[in-house]
Amino acid sequence: MPPELLLTPGEYAKKRGLECPRCHSHDLEGAEVEIDAGWATQDIICNECHSTWTDLYTLAGYRSLDPEEAPEPFTEQTFCEFINEWIDLNQKAMTGGEK
Ligand SMILES: [Zn+2]
Repeated sequence: MPPELLLTPGEYAKKRGLECPRCHSHDLEGAEVEIDAGWATQDIICNECHSTWTDLYTLAGYRSLDPEEAPEPFTEQTFCEFINEWIDLNQKAMTGGEK
């Protein structure tokens, strides 16, 4: 199969990991998810072409905090962190993700 038909990791993620990067089959099987600090992995096998690979997951946030409480008010430090993150994101957006 020509290599241009392979899905890149980004294209694979856009398809939400439902398609084999090599043969585009949806007949995939996942092993147990292994969770680490801030990220997780899952080994996948394609039942069609028998390719194997590892799905990567990153922590996106949290929800349903119990008991519900208002978030802590912004201190000067958290505000600075917020601004630095914002500047960083904008710089990445302007340079197309390159440093
Ligand atoms: Zn496949």
